[in-house]
Amino acid sequence: MSDHSNGNGVVILDTLSREFRRHLLFSLGKNEAESDSDYCYRAAALAARDRITEDWISTRERIDQSDTRRVHYLSLEFLLGRSLNNALLNLDLEEPMRKALHRFGVELEEVIDQEPDAGLGNGGLGRLAACFLDSCANLKLPVSGYGIRYEYGMFNQTVDNGRQIEGPDHWLRNGNPWEIERHEDIRKIHLYGRTERTSDADGKLHHEWVESQCVLAVPYDMPIPGYRNGTVNTLRLWKATATDEFNLSEFNAGSYTESVAEKNNAEQISMVLYPNDASENGKELRLKQQYFLVSASLQDVIADWVKRNGEDFTDFGKKNCFQLNDTHPACAVPELMRLLMDEHGLEWDDAWAITTECMAYTNHTLLPEALERWSVGLFGNLLPRILEIIYEINERFLAFVEAKYPGDKELLNRVSIIEGGNNPHIRMAYLSIVGSFSVNGVAQLHTDLLKSGLFSDFDRIWPGKLNNKTNGVTQRRWLSHCNPGLRDLLTETIGSSWESDLEKIKDLAPYSEDAAFRKKWRAVKQANKERLTKYIAQNTGVQFDASMMFDVQVKRIHEYKRQLLNILHVIHLYDRIMRGDTEGMVPRCVLIGGKAAPGYHIAKLIIKLANNVAARVNAEPKAADLLRMVFFPNYRVSAMEVICPGTELSEQISTAGKEASGTGNMKFMMNGALTIGTLDGANIEIREKAGEENFFLFGLDAKEVAETRKHYDPNAIINSDDDIRRIMELLEGGRFNENEPGIFGELIGGLRNPGDQWLSIADLRSFIDSQAQVAGIYMNPEQWDRMSILNTANSGWFSSDRTIQQYADDIWNVGAI
Ligand SMILES: *Cc1c(COP(=O)(O)O)cnc(C)c1O
Repeated sequence: MSDHSNGNGVVILDTLSREFRRHLLFSLGKNEAESDSDYCYRAAALAARDRITEDWISTRERIDQSDTRRVHYLSLEFLLGRSLNNALLNLDLEEPMRKALHRFGVELEEVIDQEPDAGLGNGGLGRLAACFLDSCANLKLPVSGYGIRYEYGMFNQTVDNGRQIEGPDHWLRNGNPWEIERHEDIRKIHLYGRTERTSDADGKLHHEWVESQCVLAVPYDMPIPGYRNGTVNTLRLWKATATDEFNLSEFNAGSYTESVAEKNNAEQISMVLYPNDASENGKELRLKQQYFLVSASLQDVIADWVKRNGEDFTDFGKKNCFQLNDTHPACAVPELMRLLMDEHGLEWDDAWAITTECMAYTNHTLLPEALERWSVGLFGNLLPRILEIIYEINERFLAFVEAKYPGDKELLNRVSIIEGGNNPHIRMAYLSIVGSFSVNGVAQLHTDLLKSGLFSDFDRIWPGKLNNKTNGVTQRRWLSHCNPGLRDLLTETIGSSWESDLEKIKDLAPYSEDAAFRKKWRAVKQANKERLTKYIAQNTGVQFDASMMFDVQVKRIHEYKRQLLNILHVIHLYDRIMRGDTEGMVPRCVLIGGKAAPGYHIAKLIIKLANNVAARVNAEPKAADLLRMVFFPNYRVSAMEVICPGTELSEQISTAGKEASGTGNMKFMMNGALTIGTLDGANIEIREKAGEENFFLFGLDAKEVAETRKHYDPNAIINSDDDIRRIMELLEGGRFNENEPGIFGELIGGLRNPGDQWLSIADLRSFIDSQAQVAGIYMNPEQWDRMSILNTANSGWFSSDRTIQQYADDIWNVGAI
């Protein structure tokens, strides 16, 4: 625990107060009396940022002076959430800032709540990138992030008559105190046009990208502070803007204003985050974003290389590594080839050796609809030179495969980067695999399934290239910061070393047998449930009861995640209550939250059903003491920081084989929730680490899922199981849509369809039974708390520090600097 009660603490407190006042006055032009909480937030953020700045500069100098390999994490998404809370925690300034603000009559929590989330991501993939940056800084690794500075982040979700409404997230409207613009590092990006081939005097062929349209990429740097270790890494986000070159013909024709207005087009590229999670939309603007990020970032790294090494690229691949967060930045492979050949004069073979020495790719999904493919026509129009290079990469790759497996034409078709046919497409996953030295999955099951399924040919062609790196989350944000009560209890019990080395949390395990400790454990959870109860009431008007069990499922709304299965279970409990069959029932409050992609009709209908079931349940007097339900709107990082500490039961109920890893499951485990889950993604590892007796398992496993699909008969299950039959009768009889007849027809049809991909009815009996076991154990609080403690105690594996140490050792080959 921090100690600011000494003389040094007073100095820090005085300095912070002074700097807070100075920023209010001189950075923001406000005196104390006229400053609202937003100004106080801004001043506090600037004061905190000042404390980071020297370490930021010295970290940069340390990396510049060392000969270490540098890692560049390329991601279209960084779901950072808020920065002030994180900075204060990592700098150990929480208490001094609280006291400093008290001097001005201001509460720290209120100030922290003013900061809008940096919602530059959809869900797990973007949040993973943010946790990774935190862990890289904690481990002092020379890793920087590269992303896009979207003007509008993930949409704001509100609910109207039970339906999702999307609103714009203009998170930058009041400025962003955490970013610094670096106009000296602006890069120029080409789009459209065509390529021109010329031979020089020596007969060497040159390619030039001509008649292109140019946009500028302007970098904004955000500091990523390590945990009390003097390291501050950088996240560089690119904003698109027009070049200063005018369209001269228009200008001369007198269309000055039109010519200036035209420049707005360039800014569209970084205007908005695409809100699709686990599906692709194939829009040209999205491809522009991808190439924009990749080209700006690679040019940035190369410019820095040339500054230090001149035009000698011999060691470039040894000294740099690009980690591709899914295929979204896959254009990095051909773009690095283009830059090395067309801009720096390297030959193909040298450029290819360098490229495949420094590219590494992380796969995040097995869902076919999420695998990126770009139509060759669209791609070639926007990025003509890049398409040429992809064709040549493919030609050489197929020649290599043909030489290795002569005569296997089927194999060539299967692994070709270009999927042929009338409307040929580029398979971005294959491009990424061919161009990378490492390809990793994000949980053991996911990697095994990649090897045996989607990427099996590549696993045969390059044994060992596919590897596993099970995801993790940072315990600084997801335990220390969001659950101060638990943090303090842990620290008084086992010390604080777990904050930078989560394996140390193992020392908690013996305390599960200590009744006095369990009482304290229970008190912390109770306080967090009360905090969550308030938060829910403020945001929804629904009143939870902190004496009931808190049963939570928050994540993107997607059929494979099976929020529908969860709702069916709520309907089952409601049915029991209405029939008076409440023996052995435990009072529970069910929370579901998450955003649906705006174009995902079924996911939006699931939100509507959740809201309608909640309304029905909450209006039923007989249910008041046994069952309550809420759909929590606008699920996001700062909401999860209140939700996960107050959760007792974590719902991780995806159809087995569909969830690559999951990371929400890990946050809940760290905070002492018990998991009810399928054998999917990292749930399997959670169950292994927690012990199977401390995990509520249900449902088919991935193999059984594949088997069941062949002869799935949901209607037979419904007819032969009274509980399930009654659930369907309530749903189909319109109990949850009395004034809106027929609106849930598609959901019902899906459940009853033998072709249903998600097999909700197949797992429902097992889910209901497992939930009954949950209730049985919850009635024995001593037993529940024992299991809860053991979940937290065994969560060490799920720190992103462990994940990142594995990336550093096995893929990046870098150490602390
Ligand atoms: C952790 C997190 C996710 C990922 O949740 P899963 O349950 O793994 O899908 C998504 N969104 C937010 C805001 C998160 O914090």
